Amino acid sequence: MEIEIFNLGNVFYPDYIVKTAAGLVKVDAGNATDYETFCAKLHRKGLSERDIKYLVLTHVHADHVAYLADLMHDVGPTLLWGSGAEENWLLGADRLMTYSSKWAKRLSEMAATLRGGAAKWQPLECLGWSRIVVPPNGEYRLDDVGLRVCGLPGHTRDSVMVAFDGGVCFVGDMLMNCVPAVHGLPLLIEDEEAFKESFARLQAMPAHIFYLGHGAPVGKAEMEKFAPYVEALHIV
Ligand SMILES: [Zn+2]
Repeated sequence: MEIEIFNLGNVFYPDYIVKTAAGLVKVDAGNATDYETFCAKLHRKGLSERDIKYLVLTHVHADHVAYLADLMHDVGPTLLWGSGAEENWLLGADRLMTYSSKWAKRLSEMAATLRGGAAKWQPLECLGWSRIVVPPNGEYRLDDVGLRVCGLPGHTRDSVMVAFDGGVCFVGDMLMNCVPAVHGLPLLIEDEEAFKESFARLQAMPAHIFYLGHGAPVGKAEMEKFAPYVEALHIV
């Protein structure tokens, strides 16, 4: 199936939406963008929020859920997210636990201090939402739009990726390709072992391009260059 990818954000905070013959698939729900701005940007591309059939949330962090509640209440697509995502959503703030390096830890703590704590959102009740939970080592297939949502724990325990049949993957913050991340590694890593297993899972994907939560997309060869750093990783 032919797909068309639009980035409504920028390179540091991409905001991807994918057009398929069977409807729109939204990947994550924005960073610090209100719902009206998101809809206005969508309309400028000739698309409508009404055609969003699925929303895949790669993980629950403040910079990925800005208009989640608004989109679910206004349009109500089927939401696919990872195991533990609902609990994280109801917390209303990023969980800052362990980091990919001492530098990443210092930087994250500094950002939190400037912000006056972890990044927050309003954790509205989600019981009424149509939602599917993808287990950490499992996957969920959507035949109509030609994709699989696969567990990809590590950055967070609830992380998942979206893999379209044509070889296009959206991996969330599993990998990052811009400052302040170094060597592709995200600053926060909740589970080192799971992260390494998830990287192996990525390497085994029949994909040729990987869209990241932050930074420009990378090809397969470029993604492989992160491998030694993933291997050497020790969380702090
Ligand atoms: Zn992020």
